Amino acid sequence: MQTLLSELKQIVGKNHVLTDGDLSAWTQDWRKRSFGKALAVVRPASTDEVARVVEVCASFRAKHPDSGLSIVAQGGNTGLVVGSTPDVSGQQIILSLQRQNAIRSLDAANLTMTVEAGCILQTLQERASIEGFLFPLSLAAEGSCTIGGNLGTNAGGTQVVRYGNTRDLCLGLEVVTAQGEVWHGLSGLRKDNTGYDLRHLFIGSEGTLGIITAATVRLYPLPAARLTAWVAVPTLDAAVNLLNLAHRHLGAGLTGFETMGQIALSLVEKHFPSLRIPLYRDCPYCVLMENSDHESEFHARIQFEGLLELALNQGCVSDAVVAESLMQTKALWQIRESIPLAQAQEGLNIKHDISLPVSAIPEFVRVTDALLESAIAGVRLVNFGHLGDGNLHYNVQAPAGMEAIEFLRAHEAQVNTLVFDSVKSFGGSISAEHGVGSLKVDQLPRYKSPVALKLMRDIKHALDPLNLMNPGRVVKL
Ligand SMILES: Cc1cc2nc3c(=O)[nH]c(=O)nc-3n(C[C@H](O)[C@H](O)[C@H](O)COP(=O)(O)OP(=O)(O)OC[C@H]3O[C@@H](n4cnc5c(N)ncnc54)[C@H](O)[C@@H]3O)c2cc1C
Repeated sequence: MQTLLSELKQIVGKNHVLTDGDLSAWTQDWRKRSFGKALAVVRPASTDEVARVVEVCASFRAKHPDSGLSIVAQGGNTGLVVGSTPDVSGQQIILSLQRQNAIRSLDAANLTMTVEAGCILQTLQERASIEGFLFPLSLAAEGSCTIGGNLGTNAGGTQVVRYGNTRDLCLGLEVVTAQGEVWHGLSGLRKDNTGYDLRHLFIGSEGTLGIITAATVRLYPLPAARLTAWVAVPTLDAAVNLLNLAHRHLGAGLTGFETMGQIALSLVEKHFPSLRIPLYRDCPYCVLMENSDHESEFHARIQFEGLLELALNQGCVSDAVVAESLMQTKALWQIRESIPLAQAQEGLNIKHDISLPVSAIPEFVRVTDALLESAIAGVRLVNFGHLGDGNLHYNVQAPAGMEAIEFLRAHEAQVNTLVFDSVKSFGGSISAEHGVGSLKVDQLPRYKSPVALKLMRDIKHALDPLNLMNPGRVVKL
């Protein structure tokens, strides 16, 4: 191993192969559920360096198949399924892309931007905005997650209802393969039917097939106005009706539709008392709606008012406020984005990032809430998420007063099976946007078709025959 480490130091410089000191920022996952041990954290600064690191590791692994040496790609380490941190063997290298973070180019006429994998999402958004464009991917971790990690997980976030997930925002990739070769696929093409679209294999593969080193992403013109409304709804059925009305009334202007349950909002109030949360005490759910308008704020407001009047008349809305300023808009989004942070402060919980046909969501929640409440007295159901694209964060928190660790030990397996079986019976998916990582890898055989799993294993074998890339994540061989 010492020879290997020396070779790695020659490639990236000795200051960028970290083996000593506190490495917990790289070895511990964001939710502090997993504490791994790395052979080294390796921090290359260019595609060439990434390729040479992978090549050296592949060659070592081929010579020492029992060494357990493997590579875990890491961006911002904000992933929620324990996919970006090493296991406890001490034989895995964390390949951190954070130093490879340049914005390479922006093609205004082609509405594209080419960025390196370690570029922080917020940096990308800000650069696009300065040039008059929108890069619509948006999530609460945007200040620390990277575009490489977003692509690795096919991240979703709050704008999927209009712009799709990261896959839909990517037109080309540059990838270092598991053999250390570079695939130069940074096309800005919207049409290219020259065979299999390799880009889609790597997007969402969570570092198990290769290392994404750069991407060409889509840009959109900045809207003239982005207006938000905070709406109290009497039931989830009413929220779904409101969503349908919003689609019809706002068309492509509907760029966000988030639901937040009362318990989720009460946790925000408890842990972030400075945030003022409107209308939530007297209704089971609130909705945060966003209308992006290419004409003007005045036009956006008129459209919103028309929609809300219609919705009030039809009984899908109990009360509503429309933001009066950009500051108010930001404050409303901050409430929504504080939910995962408030939950983390409340203690460990059992997270479910699930998707369902939107039409099935109210019944799914009724049935599953009842099952959980009868299985565990006093359990707190922290339900929020991106209703506009059928994605719920259906999280289960310990009853008040019960130790989180004790709750997880006693109930995690039972709760997961109950929720995932229910998801399956409603035709949903057990991972909507966070991925599989190591947290859900053992659940897949129960919920995914055997044919799909076999194809996934075949792809993994074909692209990474040494099982060098993030082994044991996504699919087990
Ligand atoms: C507060 C909070 C809110 C969040 N909200 C959302 C949300 O709304 N929607 C959503 O989808 N996610 C959300 N997440 C999850 C997380 O932010 C995303 O999964 C994000 O895309 C991860 O980016 P990262 O750079 O931190 O990746 P990491 O956590 O470092 O890595 C994630 C996975 O991608 C792989 N990977 C990383 N970089 C590369 C690369 N260059 N090439 C190949 N594979 C790579 C890793 O091996 C790992 O498997 C949230 C997380 C937090 C903490």
